[in-house]
Amino acid sequence: MGQLDHLLDNNKAWADGIKSQDPQFFDRLSNQQAPEYLWIGCADSRVPANQIVDLMPGELFVHRNVANVVVHTDFNCLSVLQFAVDVLKVKHVLVVGHYGCGGVKAALNNEGFGVISNWLRHVQDVRDKHQGILDGLATDQDRVDRLCELNVVEQVGHVCQNNIVQEAWRRGQALTVHGFVYDVADGILRDMGLSISSEADHEAVKQNSIDELVLRPVRAGRHKN
Ligand SMILES: [Zn+2]
Repeated sequence: MGQLDHLLDNNKAWADGIKSQDPQFFDRLSNQQAPEYLWIGCADSRVPANQIVDLMPGELFVHRNVANVVVHTDFNCLSVLQFAVDVLKVKHVLVVGHYGCGGVKAALNNEGFGVISNWLRHVQDVRDKHQGILDGLATDQDRVDRLCELNVVEQVGHVCQNNIVQEAWRRGQALTVHGFVYDVADGILRDMGLSISSEADHEAVKQNSIDELVLRPVRAGRHKN
């Protein structure tokens, strides 16, 4: 008996279940993938990409890291982005943050340790950039959640600034970058109202203040109880 036999048993039951509904499902998938969406999200176990949006294997291309950060020199993330945009020709890139993010909380309160401190420095840059907004909030919980939102806004900007996306727009490829935030407390994914489909959109978004960019009802009164 292997220690992880229960996972293998789960997998067998899952695959059998899909084949009973659609006998050709895995044959089709083995020949090609044609996802329309790239999901850039947090590695948090409570935020499983496919399950949250109820998509099957083959429908969502996924990159996850701690605190859903898009760093201009991260060749892991950039390789995923390039393959998704240039080869798979996804139509949408979703940057998905989540409330209660441990990485964001650690960044906010300087609680990182070891190598992760270096990674979270990127989120601390977001914190420092918007310190005035965060200082105006009443509780640490509110500041964490607001920084989760601000972090999504910043990372959406990083995706839009990237030459992979910029070149796709220049050649007329249909590609929209979105900012979403997920709440682990109610299972609901919220559209932050950031949908950028061109360099003109990107420029227009940059003209707005950060308060206009972050969907106010998402955070308003969330932790009053
Ligand atoms: Zn997280």
